Amino acid sequence: AGSFDDECDYLFKTVLIGDSAVGKSNLLSRYARDEFHLDSKPTIGVEFAYRNIKVGDKLIKAQIWDTAGQERFRAITSSYYRGALGAMLVYDITRRATFENLKKWLYEVRQFGSPDMVVVLVGNKSDLAQSRQINVEDGQSLAQLEGLCFMETSARENVNVEEAFREMITKIHQVTS
Ligand code: GDP
Ligand code: MG
Repeated sequence: AGSFDDECDYLFKTVLIGDSAVGKSNLLSRYARDEFHLDSKPTIGVEFAYRNIKVGDKLIKAQIWDTAGQERFRAITSSYYRGALGAMLVYDITRRATFENLKKWLYEVRQFGSPDMVVVLVGNKSDLAQSRQINVEDGQSLAQLEGLCFMETSARENVNVEEAFREMITKIHQVTS
């Protein structure tokens, strides 16, 4: 019998992008290992994690890349985007600046990413409703304007994390098949 890897039908590279401390690494650790960390460790961390997911009758291996803190210095380079079929663009609903910087991220995605890259916009930290600075509607209208999928998530409370990644993988599958 072949290894589990051999049984996967597709390998999709995807990347996490967005300002520092919006929760990218925790979205990934929640999705890949069901873990959440209260502290932020921007310079430590794996380059990427894998998760296998079933879409229809296909088994897809999602390879999800995380920044090792380079976003702090706006030093994410074209190699990070190379071969990526999807991007999860994350902001923090409690920090307006992270929403305003989405324009810069989208510009970068269009500069470095492939033209048909699937982008899912994610407003993270939905558990911190009392500190909210960005309404759901603002996220929705930006997503509509830019032609992106949109979801609010909480890596902390494990809300919509599964759904956001599934949405991205499913869309990639639609685009590539
Ligand atoms: P990154 O720099 O974008 O990778 O962000 P991190 O994943 O390191 O998270 C930055 C900080 O935000 C950490 O202190 C996390 O514990 C916290 N954090 C991440 N996601 C959430 C969330 O959904 N809710 C809350 N309340 N805090 C979060
Ligand atoms: Mg990180």
